[in-house]
Amino acid sequence: MDLSLSEEEREIRDWVRTFVRKEVMPLEPDVLARERRHEPGLSREELRGLQAKAQQSGFFGVHTPEEYGGMGLGAVMNALVETELGRSFVPFKFGGDADNILYLGNDEQKQRHLLPTIAGERRSCFAITEPGAGSDARAISARAERDGDEWVINGEKTFITGGQEADFCMVFAVTDAQKHRQGRTDESVTCFLVDRDSGWRSEHIETMGEWGPAALVFEDVRVPHTAILGEEGRGFQLAMRWIGKGRYMLPARALGACERLVEMGMEHARTRVTFGEPIADRQAIQWMVADSAVEIEALRWLVLCAAWQVDAGLDSRQSQSMAKLYGGQKANEVVDRVLQMHGGMGYTRELPVERWYRELRLLRIYEGTDEIQRRTIARNLLKGHASVRGHLG
Ligand SMILES: Cc1cc2nc3c(=O)[nH]c(=O)nc-3n(C[C@H](O)[C@H](O)[C@H](O)COP(=O)(O)OP(=O)(O)OC[C@H]3O[C@@H](n4cnc5c(N)ncnc54)[C@H](O)[C@@H]3O)c2cc1C
Repeated sequence: MDLSLSEEEREIRDWVRTFVRKEVMPLEPDVLARERRHEPGLSREELRGLQAKAQQSGFFGVHTPEEYGGMGLGAVMNALVETELGRSFVPFKFGGDADNILYLGNDEQKQRHLLPTIAGERRSCFAITEPGAGSDARAISARAERDGDEWVINGEKTFITGGQEADFCMVFAVTDAQKHRQGRTDESVTCFLVDRDSGWRSEHIETMGEWGPAALVFEDVRVPHTAILGEEGRGFQLAMRWIGKGRYMLPARALGACERLVEMGMEHARTRVTFGEPIADRQAIQWMVADSAVEIEALRWLVLCAAWQVDAGLDSRQSQSMAKLYGGQKANEVVDRVLQMHGGMGYTRELPVERWYRELRLLRIYEGTDEIQRRTIARNLLKGHASVRGHLG
């Protein structure tokens, strides 16, 4: 068993690490100051400027297949890259990516939605959650009714990431009410690609995080039959495919944040003197450091194991759920400890610790809550689809 990185993996990882240190981290004080004024931490122009700089070194389309001009990196490499990006709270991501399900569109849909999204000219959002259907996504009630060559969409979506900024949405609506009532969701829901100028509107939702999702309202929004992505009635499978695209990516980013937070905590502990000694000399603080380091290491291997399974073409769902659950739980414990190590300063907006504290809380909720991950993990075990011995058997 070889758990080391290949030369290529190390090179790419190190390049990202340097880029984050030299280009992204210096923006942190500005991002914090702007957010304190309730302004976006990074403007769209600044983000595109950074992305262009990365592109000059060939860093573009990390997840995008090479035939679409991307790097087509594998899952392990993606996890390593995401971890490095997670070391800064600056809301940066490399350019050149698009939602996985847009690759399943026909030629016209690719021209209209996929290619401009990869080029950064158009922004998408993914809309399945509704006020009455979150964890239980099969309970959606937004509906689309056929009218000649068109469909008329009505309903409300909520908590849609990027919904306020998106130029088009991938929206999921019931197109066969009878099958839907019978619980045949795999045949009753359809995915539509709907431009904003078709008439849907968005309303920003304030959250405890620095960026807010949006509610999307569809009132008699008319779209042509050609707006259907994939097959009519087969949208639920597309939604699951989108959500399952890489559950290891969220904990991978949190892993980077945890590494940085513990480094910050240790630096503070070495220099903060109380009762005549640095707090780093106190066992209470050392145990926080030790527990965090062990959990970070365990999280690293859960994330990399899930990613490795994806690359190996194995069924990675159990590992991905484990990484997502553990990452959400442990990242919240780590940031809480690091905030505690900083005392009163940890609670201020002078330092990014409280910002991370708020941001990491989301990890336990979206793309499958802790409880839903546990449900999946336990079900797989109890039904015999997975073993407590893991993939080694
Ligand atoms: C910031 C943010 C961004 C988001 N982005 C998107 C997006 O881009 N697109 C999108 O479609 N959605 C998005 N979501 C929605 C997100 O996926 C849902 O909020 C999440 O799936 C939980 O659904 P819910 O909020 O309806 O909670 P509920 O499903 O109502 O759950 C409430 C509580 O009950 C628990 N629970 C539910 N069912 C069970 C069960 N069977 N057993 C035990 N406990 C259970 C849950 O774990 C939770 O603790 C986003 C949410 C947030 C907050």
